[in-house]
Amino acid sequence: MSLFDKFQPLIDIRGELEGVGVMPFGAVTEKLLSPTEAIVNGQRVILAGTNNYLGLTFEPECIQAGQQALAEQGTGTTGSRMANGTFAAHVALEQELAAFFAKQQCIVFSTGYAATMGMAATLAGPGDVIVLDADSHASLYDGVRLSGAEVVRFKHNDAADLEKRLRRLGARTANTLIIVEGMYSMLGDQAPLADIAALKKHYGGLLLVDEAHSLGMLGEHGRGVAEAAGVEEDVDFTVGTFSKSLGAIGGYCVSNHAELAAIRFAIRSYIFTASPSPSVIASTRVALRLMQERPELRTRLWDNARRLYDGLQALGFKVSPQASPVVAVTIEDRDRAIACWSQLLHRGAYVNLVMPPASPSTDSLLRCSVSAAHSHEQIDRIIEAFAGLDTEHTAAAN
Ligand code: PMP
Repeated sequence: MSLFDKFQPLIDIRGELEGVGVMPFGAVTEKLLSPTEAIVNGQRVILAGTNNYLGLTFEPECIQAGQQALAEQGTGTTGSRMANGTFAAHVALEQELAAFFAKQQCIVFSTGYAATMGMAATLAGPGDVIVLDADSHASLYDGVRLSGAEVVRFKHNDAADLEKRLRRLGARTANTLIIVEGMYSMLGDQAPLADIAALKKHYGGLLLVDEAHSLGMLGEHGRGVAEAAGVEEDVDFTVGTFSKSLGAIGGYCVSNHAELAAIRFAIRSYIFTASPSPSVIASTRVALRLMQERPELRTRLWDNARRLYDGLQALGFKVSPQASPVVAVTIEDRDRAIACWSQLLHRGAYVNLVMPPASPSTDSLLRCSVSAAHSHEQIDRIIEAFAGLDTEHTAAAN
């Protein structure tokens, strides 16, 4: 027995992939040509597996703001928000996010992971209960595990199952935290937030929604699934990230609960990590403004999303349950999925390969995501790459 024994399955898979010359995990982007094109693993490809939903990563205004902050404030803060790492721009971004979400409180974190994990770990504790959607992101699961609360999972997007579990809790719902996502990262499907919010109101407790994949995408102002469903008042905490539609890195939590001002100093992923660099905060602030000033980005994103979804569906692929900027193609057989991923790369499309346990079922996924920056021609080229796939061929060679 050794500490390494438990890693054997992982070591085996890595060896297997290396043996057939495929590197799907940690594929190396050798050169970025634009927000939508790059050289990956030596291949010139269209990027169809980023979370660059609004395509803002190369926005000149964002870059200029980042460069100016870098020149004026240096490369890093060298400290946590609680110690020396709170600069005026961190506070300004918190105020801008609070105004955008029309909430009173906001905390900015160093990563989306720190935000979602930290809030899930802190709000409920020993003696409390967390009821979470079974398909929740790993960061939420990690937080929940750290919280010390009793954890109850309900069936993905199944409000009736959530109700059953809340009913069973009886009076304990008063100190229960319900956790769901807005749009789910793997299949792009949306939570039935109107039903979930109604249940929270009826049974009590607090509701936290991770809108990492829906910021800038849904709702009249782009505030996410809760806004689109008209239930923002019933969401107690909204968490999310700057690493997708805002094209940077960092995370946030917004709320109308005044207690958040004090709770911030109980969140270990806020206290014990360095705050985001000034350049990151500067580009994020501009991206947040551009997201609001340019609703056409959202229109283009959804236009591209529908084009890809319809195109892949027309080819007969098993696609996500609903059209969204995340379009996942289910491939039941893991080896076939690996082979398809490799073929796609060679045919000029880089997508995400998702295998169990990262995928929500025992199936594997070829997860595509679209950007407002994709042209129609690029979307069509992604579809063409899929059209030529040899889905029957299981060898991982090209
Ligand atoms: N929540 C969800 C639903 C996510 O998909 C992610 C990132 N994949 C995170 C949180 C963490 O965000 P980040 O990668 O910006 O740390």
